Amino acid sequence: MSTAIPFVYHASYSQLALPRTHRFPTTKYQLLYQHAIAHQLLFEPSRHIPSAINIEALHDVHCPEYVNQFISGTLDHKAQRRIGFPWSKQLVNRTLHAVNGTVLCTQLALAQGFAVHLTGGYHHAHYDFGSGFCIFNDLIIAAKTAINSGGADKVLIFDCDVHQGDGTATLAQQYPDIVSCSIHCAQNFPSRKQHSDHDIDLNKGCSDPEYLEHIQQILPYLIRLHQPDLIIYDAGVDIHQDDDLGYFNISNQGILARDTQVISIAKSHNIPLAAVIGGGYSRNEAELTHRHSQLLIAANKVWLYK
Ligand SMILES: [Zn+2]
Repeated sequence: MSTAIPFVYHASYSQLALPRTHRFPTTKYQLLYQHAIAHQLLFEPSRHIPSAINIEALHDVHCPEYVNQFISGTLDHKAQRRIGFPWSKQLVNRTLHAVNGTVLCTQLALAQGFAVHLTGGYHHAHYDFGSGFCIFNDLIIAAKTAINSGGADKVLIFDCDVHQGDGTATLAQQYPDIVSCSIHCAQNFPSRKQHSDHDIDLNKGCSDPEYLEHIQQILPYLIRLHQPDLIIYDAGVDIHQDDDLGYFNISNQGILARDTQVISIAKSHNIPLAAVIGGGYSRNEAELTHRHSQLLIAANKVWLYK
């Protein structure tokens, strides 16, 4: 058995030129990757590099017209604005690799029990439009690919990003074998929430004990109820008390405890878990990298007994 965590990373994740004032943390992916290698949380031989996703896989989940217009740069101004990024070839390249990275991550998890993707969690992407920095819904695409390939019969998308997974919620309604659960802040974006299969709305200011209690209750319950054979976990760190966008009051220790709980619960039930890093916003790159690295520390603790 391998002694290192399998992970997915492509250099394009941090290759996106944006206006100076843009709040998307483009550099964090590369910084997290470098931090993980430098601190031996991840090892280069266990790195898997995704190719660009093929268009058919996108058409399988999203409106083909929307997919084609995004790729060719012909979305109208309003649709592009709702995504939150100016269109560029770089953006298309990054998007196609990032979405396939989550597909690859789930395949690795199914084969090895656990894998992590150093981006992913584009949960505000809907059937025929993108929003909130999300273009195509990697979580749904990866879940559907796992089901189509026979790798899983039932997939649980367990979304702990501070923002509700509204795109995931509406898309998952089309697929009875994909169960969506979102644990999010009621007062955060999106203002109009959608119906996930399970929603836990917590209030602004939610702190570690309350938050962790919900995780500890809901995940074993969902496993009993749905008996998933794959969990895709969105480990967003915008729950952090100092996040620029999130309204929760969770500490770094709280993030570590959450990630440890989720990975441990999946492992104790022998359910493969594919983790994506999700959202996290701060102008302080070192601090943001530290928050995301909690997932890797938790993974090492649970899987390698470090
Ligand atoms: Zn978020």
